[in-house]
Amino acid sequence: MREQRVGGAAMTRRFGRVRTASGAVFHVEHEGEELCVLERAPWLGGEATGERLARSMVARHLAPVEPRKIVCVGRNYAAHARELGNEVPEEPLLFFKPTTSLLDPGGTIVLPPRELSERVEHEVELGVVVGEVLFGADRAACAAAIFGYTIVGDITARDLQRRDKQWTRAKGIDTFCPVGPVVVAGLEASSLGVRARVDGELRQDGNTANMLFSPPELLSFISQAMTLEPGDLVVTGTPEGVGPLAPGNRLELEIDGIGVLALDVGVRH
Ligand code: MG
Repeated sequence: MREQRVGGAAMTRRFGRVRTASGAVFHVEHEGEELCVLERAPWLGGEATGERLARSMVARHLAPVEPRKIVCVGRNYAAHARELGNEVPEEPLLFFKPTTSLLDPGGTIVLPPRELSERVEHEVELGVVVGEVLFGADRAACAAAIFGYTIVGDITARDLQRRDKQWTRAKGIDTFCPVGPVVVAGLEASSLGVRARVDGELRQDGNTANMLFSPPELLSFISQAMTLEPGDLVVTGTPEGVGPLAPGNRLELEIDGIGVLALDVGVRH
């Protein structure tokens, strides 16, 4: 599943997870218009079963990852650290999002009641899907252990983040971790455009080349403290331009080579 090169050009493979009309859930590989069913998650070595699904058989595209943990990085772009009045960190600043915050592509970000938060903001981020067990790993080992990349929204209740001093509630609210639409393996991720649009208006327009710490550096740093396991998701920070979301907004998170993660914004009833 590692990067394959043909004639110098990277060959990418695109993986997703779908639910069919009958309710069955499959890991799939996108091959043109067809979806090839895998026996299990591709980062666990899942091979094709030979069964193919027509797109018309798919009832819903699901978050393409099933992480046991989601490790996120704060302030990994200098311009974003400054826009919120923060220092540029000397080493990665880590936090978790709970797996209950995961949201499928095409899903609805549900804003909490005003008593909990009055300001929820979008943050578009490159997500790294871990492909091997990593503990105390160096950068080269971590680079080789990246299964693929996806798009993640690190949706944040900014007022709660400031009030709580730490970030567990602000970034852990249900639906605050949309992921997808696919995981792309074999992608060269060192210089990818990263954008967020709200109702068609460009709000964030960054590039992964401006990260303070690269994905291999981040995985190595994390793995000095805790074991990273296949399928774990590492979320690499957001570029500048974060801003508020309101009910009825259409949020589009886009990264070159991966696609567009489209989401609606609603309120909790
Ligand atoms: Mg973030």
